[in-house]
Amino acid sequence: MSLLRTLFAKSQPLPMPAAADWERVLSLPLFAGFSDADYRRLQTLALQLLADKTFTPVADAQPSGADIAGIATRAALPILKLGVSWYHGWNEVVLYPAQFIHEAEEMDEHGIVHALRHVRSGEAWAGGPLILSLDDLQGSGRGEGYDVVIHEFAHKLDMANGKGSAGVNGLPPLHGDMRVADWAAAFNPAYQDFRRRVDAGEATEIDPYAAESPAEFFAVLTEYFFDLPEALIEAYPAVYEQLRRFYRQDPMERFHDPATS
Ligand SMILES: [Zn+2]
Repeated sequence: MSLLRTLFAKSQPLPMPAAADWERVLSLPLFAGFSDADYRRLQTLALQLLADKTFTPVADAQPSGADIAGIATRAALPILKLGVSWYHGWNEVVLYPAQFIHEAEEMDEHGIVHALRHVRSGEAWAGGPLILSLDDLQGSGRGEGYDVVIHEFAHKLDMANGKGSAGVNGLPPLHGDMRVADWAAAFNPAYQDFRRRVDAGEATEIDPYAAESPAEFFAVLTEYFFDLPEALIEAYPAVYEQLRRFYRQDPMERFHDPATS
């Protein structure tokens, strides 16, 4: 992290969001249909996250107050009914201006190490920082099943079992009234089915990136759960049900409750 610290030393203090920034974020499709109490709770959690986490712009990123409000409020959504302790054990949110290059080394089956370069919109490190591209906030939370902030914070929930990178497997710690067997019975066949569709070249409504691994499947389906729940219910209703019980929210009901539309 020393490189990030060095880069941070040159950056400006973070702008604090103004009232209009918070209002603009809450007017996104992602946040439609909440009760006033839940809107207040979202904002309380968002402010708590801003106080708890260090936001570190790097590579000349210049986040606006609206960007900061957008990140904190989106990050608050998955834990609205869970509480901020689900994000404990790490401190830093690193902000890039745009997509960034992730460099890694991977050993193949012959023991040869390959240098890999991936373009990323975000990243979450077990026990370490969460990284976001500010550019990718623009297309997030528009009711299209894409939200980079929710995706990366879902990885953090997956990691909340404290097992480090080995615990990033699409199985977050479940509540006492849930069972790992039920979770697996919903997720495993859905993941196999989705991989088969993607391998067959089918045009899926859900982003094919979900086929990368069980961890990505959980993170991408969490984006759909919150941002385009009807697509998830239609494709994998049992997965939707498990996510509804895990997040203790029902976005489908929230979006379609006539009392709040
Ligand atoms: Zn991911």
